[in-house]
Amino acid sequence: MKITDIVSSKKYSLSFEVFPPKTNTAFASVEHAVNEIAALKPSYMSVTYGAGGGTSKYTLDIAKNIKDKYSVPSIAHLTCVSSSKETVKDMIEKIHLAGIENVLALRGDIPKDAPEGEGTGDYKHSMDLMSDIRSSGYDFCVGGACYPEVHPESKSKQDDIYYLKQKADSGFEFFTSQMFFDNNLYYNFLYRIREAGVTVPIIPGIMPITKASQVERAISLSGCYVPQRFISLVDKFGYDDAAMMQAGIAYATDQIIDLFANNVTHVHVYSMNNPHVAQAIMNNLSDILGKE
Ligand code: FAD
Repeated sequence: MKITDIVSSKKYSLSFEVFPPKTNTAFASVEHAVNEIAALKPSYMSVTYGAGGGTSKYTLDIAKNIKDKYSVPSIAHLTCVSSSKETVKDMIEKIHLAGIENVLALRGDIPKDAPEGEGTGDYKHSMDLMSDIRSSGYDFCVGGACYPEVHPESKSKQDDIYYLKQKADSGFEFFTSQMFFDNNLYYNFLYRIREAGVTVPIIPGIMPITKASQVERAISLSGCYVPQRFISLVDKFGYDDAAMMQAGIAYATDQIIDLFANNVTHVHVYSMNNPHVAQAIMNNLSDILGKE
């Protein structure tokens, strides 16, 4: 099933993101966690892709397993910045042969050792990858990434929105957002991009922060704003693992309820291979999910 069909439903729904293991030895534990999340029957699951392509086989195996074993639609992420045209062509072919209908086409982060502003492969931007996916002739539903707080490399908000419009015009059918901890940032972003003529679905991405150590990592990776309300919560409960887990899940649930109350029907949760977090959020929303 295509992601655009799923997110156009009027019923409230959630999807979860998982990531592949970095090594062979970790595969079994990741597979177990992914299976537990898939058994919760989210509306779809997305599987990330290592920017260097080293874990590409796992992305494919996991996305195929989710779809075949649990009948949960899956989306395979695909990055290009460190890849050759041949590698990407091969991967597109494999995604098609695995029966996966959805691809999240991404540039990937530029490796630290690459010349300034360039990757180490044949691609510069996600749009170049989109062009190769479309010329494969396969009928994929292709989405991309967007950034309510602006991509760290963008010169300005206007520039970022300009390129997002170009991305939509080049065939991206939906965008999933970078995480944010203040919903007003998402509402403001939505207003601005609609004004700029971007009409495709924008799926908000919510990251439940359940460990104090995650806060610093999340900020340094995404550069996103952390509201005082959330900082207070970490100050108060961060030392107690169980309390922080509960508080982080409650904060993410609260963000999702606010989104649902403001005309959003689908939210993507960065569940970080944690079935407990995925289950707890679904339980918190059990009387809302599936309803119109
Ligand atoms: P692009 O769309 O190429 O944009 C990057 C920058 O270039 C932006 O500043 C944009 O405004 C600008 N730009 C875009 N097109 C052009 C153009 N034609 N000319 C000039 N400037 C342009 N990383 C992974 O390695 N694996 C994953 O699985 C993964 N999944 C992700 C999922 C989501 C939902 C998000 C939000 C991010 C994900 N990332 C992942 C991180 C992502 O790869 C990085 O944020 C990366 O730096 C940018 O990727 P992009 O596809 O947004 O790039």
